[in-house]
Amino acid sequence: MDMPQTVGFVGLGVMGHAMASNLLKAGHKVRAHDLRREAVAELASQGATAVGSPAEAAEDADLVVTMLPDTPQVDTVVLGPGGLRENPPAGRLIVDMSTIAPGAARRMAETLSGEGITMLDAPVSGGPGGAKDAKLSIMVGGTEEGVSRARPVLEAMGTTIVHVGPAGAGQTVKACNQLIVAMNLQAVCEAFALGRAAGLDLHLLREVLLGGAASSWMMQNLAPLMLAKDDRAGFRIDLQLKDLRLAGELAFELGVPLPGTALATSLYLEARAHGEGGNGNQALFRVFDRLSNQTEK
Ligand code: NAD
Repeated sequence: MDMPQTVGFVGLGVMGHAMASNLLKAGHKVRAHDLRREAVAELASQGATAVGSPAEAAEDADLVVTMLPDTPQVDTVVLGPGGLRENPPAGRLIVDMSTIAPGAARRMAETLSGEGITMLDAPVSGGPGGAKDAKLSIMVGGTEEGVSRARPVLEAMGTTIVHVGPAGAGQTVKACNQLIVAMNLQAVCEAFALGRAAGLDLHLLREVLLGGAASSWMMQNLAPLMLAKDDRAGFRIDLQLKDLRLAGELAFELGVPLPGTALATSLYLEARAHGEGGNGNQALFRVFDRLSNQTEK
């Protein structure tokens, strides 16, 4: 591999933990921070250096990666008091891999660029499995120079790494990704609701559909959880709703009608209203249980 780097890593949740772990496996040094001490301790047991703040994560680091829930958390860690703007890494490079608003990503990069700090937006797709297996798809917005410096680190976490445009473009691609994800899952739920009502064996339905034009990542990865009634998160309903909000806001700004996204957003709101915000994305099927009153069939 290229020269090992020292990477500050902030945000060790479902995704960040596995991604930081892969950096260690690839031979990079990791300075790990999260508000949850147990997450930091777990990564330290794999060889990371445990640190207590974003500023400490940045100390002597070539770059800092952030993997946080939403725009406000990234804003706090990057621009807030004691954050990375005041305490940039030695390499003056920040790579935000969270899913946040494209406009916020662009504004942060512009603000920092005036101070000689490069910030990339590099959101990911592939779920917890992709994070664990270092097979994420990474959509990167920012300068060519920043992307080429970050590439060796990104390559330790993903297999598809595409520089899609200037700052904010990575998040715009991710918004497109997420509306496809939601509508794809909605389509699988509808097919299963119909097949169930007709008395089909849904395992056989899935098996044959996987071999044809109706196959998808959702059918492959989330349909088995739906059939097992396993609603545990991976990717939480609340995070998917956040992503649909980001896509909807961008569409509103640009005046682009997204009728399918609007419908999917309503269905996800129904799931959250029934207390499923902390459940996995596949719990969207519970909405169709209620709509068709077929839970027990
Ligand atoms: P998560 O909630 O599991 O992890 C977020 C982590 O950030 C938590 O450990 C939390 O303690 C930490 N955190 C929050 N605020 C902090 C702060 N101010 N300082 C330090 N740490 C802080 O979320 P996740 O599922 O890992 O997702 C992270 C991001 O990646 C989100 O933007 C999500 O939309 C996106 N994403 C998630 C998936 C998935 O399948 N889970 C897939 C692709 C993209």
